[in-house]
Amino acid sequence: MLLERSVLLKGTLIEVERTCGKPGCKCPRGEKHTCRQLSASVEGKTRTWNVPGRYLARVKRLTDNYRRFRRARAAWVRLNAQMLEAINEMEGARTVPDFRDECRREEG
Ligand SMILES: [Zn+2]
Repeated sequence: MLLERSVLLKGTLIEVERTCGKPGCKCPRGEKHTCRQLSASVEGKTRTWNVPGRYLARVKRLTDNYRRFRRARAAWVRLNAQMLEAINEMEGARTVPDFRDECRREEG
């Protein structure tokens, strides 16, 4: 997944209900209009963009790609942390505290 070349799009597709304000429309009485939006955090702020119907399938696919990539990335980061811990343990177990003890041990 990390090495695939699929295009990634950060964000989540959401459905938003709204009223239009046109006189006589049913939306104020509960039959609200819905539109699909892409919601994403950009520099710490949540931003949304309307997604036209003709782009829905592609936006869904690209945001799915992004989510799968992020999961794979998180697993890779965890694995690296475990490997680093193991390497540090090996280093600690093999490092002598004092060269003199080690040299005497080799002589003896
Ligand atoms: Zn309306």
